[in-house]
Amino acid sequence: MSDKARWAGIYLLICAIPLFVYFLPPLSPEIMSHKMFTNFLVLAPYLGLFLIAILGWQINQTRIFWSALLLVGLYHFFLHSSEFFEVSTTRARSIEIITVSYPLALSIIYVMRESQLWSDKSLTRVLLGLWPFLIFIGLYNWAPAIYQNLLFWSPSNTAQLFHVPALTILAYGIFLLVVIFEPDSKPKSYLIALATTTVPFLFCAQISLITNDSTTNTLKNFNVIVAFSVSTGILLHAILRLYWQKVYLDILTEIPNRQALNERLMTLQHPYALAMIDIDHFKKFNDVYGHAQGDNVLRMVALTLKESLGQNVYRYGGEEFCAVFTDEQAKTAHIHMEQTRRLLEKRDFHLRLFEREKPNFIKELTQKSEPKVEKGVQITVSVGVAYSIPKTKSHEEVIHSADKSLYKAKEKGRNQVVSSEEKD
Ligand code: GH3
Ligand code: MG
Ligand code: MG
Repeated sequence: MSDKARWAGIYLLICAIPLFVYFLPPLSPEIMSHKMFTNFLVLAPYLGLFLIAILGWQINQTRIFWSALLLVGLYHFFLHSSEFFEVSTTRARSIEIITVSYPLALSIIYVMRESQLWSDKSLTRVLLGLWPFLIFIGLYNWAPAIYQNLLFWSPSNTAQLFHVPALTILAYGIFLLVVIFEPDSKPKSYLIALATTTVPFLFCAQISLITNDSTTNTLKNFNVIVAFSVSTGILLHAILRLYWQKVYLDILTEIPNRQALNERLMTLQHPYALAMIDIDHFKKFNDVYGHAQGDNVLRMVALTLKESLGQNVYRYGGEEFCAVFTDEQAKTAHIHMEQTRRLLEKRDFHLRLFEREKPNFIKELTQKSEPKVEKGVQITVSVGVAYSIPKTKSHEEVIHSADKSLYKAKEKGRNQVVSSEEKD
């Protein structure tokens, strides 16, 4: 299971907490409507969401910045809707408008590409993001019949159970498409977290529409605070994961980087083995196909190594990787590396070459009108393996002897695994 899918599952489970709290209240109504919640815990989502906005801005994710500020506004509205609107029907309509407009606003904010915080594009993003709210407010005021038909177009009468408009489902469908088609994998993991918070958000809307009178207001606010605290916690975790990835993941191959390896090496205890893996003749590959294709091959090699060796492979630097074997696997490191080497040797890496990237000999073979050509290339690696010896060797020494073995593998003709015990 991918990391993103695993976290989406965990977030969804956490998102069920507000529902449990609502249906099986853990505290008595007096405690839940106590001043401690209304005066103190009410601040937690505000603080958390502002922090998310700042953290997003710091890593140049201004879309996260704006969507977190939008959530601050909505949280404020859910808490104080009865003060904004005295008439309960107007209050109910305003909550309906929010449930439809919020996912549409998110879709607009995220579908536009990243930009600087203070720029024309950013201003356009904010103004366009406000449009769904303005359109539905306008419809409600000046064309109530159209408003009613548009928001509650569902043929079946589900109004008794779900007070949230049917159009909300469609609006969330659009937002889900934006999440699925987000090309950048980093904001995508935050977007997935944002998508899971749909559950507490719709729950908030539903209870605000059910408890649409001021007598149950403090109890309703308790549920709103719980729902937004859960959402804020999830989003905070998602953005901190982006920071964690920046520290420990290699930007190109998305496998753990040298920093992650250094910290892992500190924890290693005998017996363990290290393997240094180096792509053969990679400079030549870059010279022939260009650096962009070289980067693609590095990604594909990293993926194959991960497939074969799991979480124990790190990008050491350049076209070199390091694999760590511990406990039982330490004894069989050579066999594992031999299997991995064969896997890479057998695999054909498919390059999609544009006309200008094609080497001359391929250009001559293909017609000018053809925009791309697929070409399978073979990539091989040389590997040096070294084993720990109790007490005598530090991990620097083990790396050094793995390097020496790697050098021997290159000398012997490349595409092979050499272990430190092997004699010349
Ligand atoms: P050998 O078989 O002896 O290892 O030969 P080699 O050409 O692979 O080794 P050499 O050390 O001469 O060259 C390594 C090349 O790896 C040089 C550099 O262009 C390329 N390289 C290192 N990092 C990257 C990267 O991030 N992207 C790309 N595209 N190329 C890289
Ligand atoms: Mg090298
Ligand atoms: Mg090399």
